[in-house]
Amino acid sequence: MKPIQMVDLQAQYHHYKNDIDAAIQEVLETSTYINGPAVKLFQEKMEAYLNVKHVIPCANGTDALQIALMALGLKPGDEVIVPAFTYVATAEVAALLGLKVVMTDVDPDTFNITDKHIEAAITPKTKAIVPVHLFGQSCDMEPIIALAKKYNLFIIEDNAQAIGADYTFSDGSVVKTGAMGNVGCTSFYPSKNLGAYGDGGAMYCNEEQMGADLRMIANHGQKRRYYHDTVGVNSRLDSVQAALLEVKLRHLDEFSKARQEAAAYYDKALSGIAGLKVPVRQHNSTHVFHQYTLQVPADKRNELQEYLKNKGIPSMIYYPLPLYEQDAFKDCSSRATVELPVTEMLCKSVISLPMHSEMEEEQLTYICESIRSFFK
Ligand SMILES: *Cc1c(COP(=O)(O)O)cnc(C)c1O
Repeated sequence: MKPIQMVDLQAQYHHYKNDIDAAIQEVLETSTYINGPAVKLFQEKMEAYLNVKHVIPCANGTDALQIALMALGLKPGDEVIVPAFTYVATAEVAALLGLKVVMTDVDPDTFNITDKHIEAAITPKTKAIVPVHLFGQSCDMEPIIALAKKYNLFIIEDNAQAIGADYTFSDGSVVKTGAMGNVGCTSFYPSKNLGAYGDGGAMYCNEEQMGADLRMIANHGQKRRYYHDTVGVNSRLDSVQAALLEVKLRHLDEFSKARQEAAAYYDKALSGIAGLKVPVRQHNSTHVFHQYTLQVPADKRNELQEYLKNKGIPSMIYYPLPLYEQDAFKDCSSRATVELPVTEMLCKSVISLPMHSEMEEEQLTYICESIRSFFK
């Protein structure tokens, strides 16, 4: 059996090597490394895939979130609601911009923030919410969008983990995650579902003015070269990354399908183990399984991880500590409520299994048998 990895970037590369090598070679031949035709092409392909009017590529997912928040024109002290159970970037950028981060609890089944959590955290100073489509499944956006309308709030979707997932509204319309709020943000970090061979990210939106503002901020605050309308940043996706991402984008739905098949295998082989909870599927979202995350009894979790490690099976804890307990956020009293019991519980009980587009059945069988034998 091939050694098991959390993410097998090498196997995926070999699968598409000819096309990827040719795309990179073409950039080298044309030698337009910044804002070249490859970036434009990838941008257009992304716009078509996501069915959005504007895609603005940038340097990474964290920059995407930061630039999106900058484009809202908020004032220091304005409040931004984020889930406490997420990657640090979601909250970090708001803190960096002098905004007040307000962290809420999440749903114990989907790991996602809901309209209920958000509504309870709204104050007169709330200006924006950042739903995170964690582990590859959409937040239940319809009620969140209704709430944002009611309270006049911006929605920045953190779609770093769910690119390619579909959300279905009650009228039957289907929209890609990241295309429902004011701005969607994603990351092309190598291990993400659409991963570059280095850093990369993108913002997307449908509104003309927002698209222009995002593009301007990402480019030193200039619309015209050497004339700077606002203080911006330098955040670009380079042509080499764009070229290989364009190749991979053609196969993104295949990657998602392969992940879903691995997840279905896990679901079946791991069901019925007392104390073990497999990921819960939300009825109105597809799941692209950026992570396949189990919940196990807190007192067994670390022992299970060690047990798997000794059998050559890697696993990861996303995330071991609630954001408000990180030293970086301890002083900002950023919790929406005194207790966030679900976040506390999840940090102690989650464990993510190997998940990527090249999982082999033999590996899946071995992983599931090992987990079964642990719980015997
Ligand atoms: C990866 C990730 C980011 C940040 O993306 P980078 O490209 O690493 O900056 C932001 N939010 C979430 C939820 C992520 O998983």
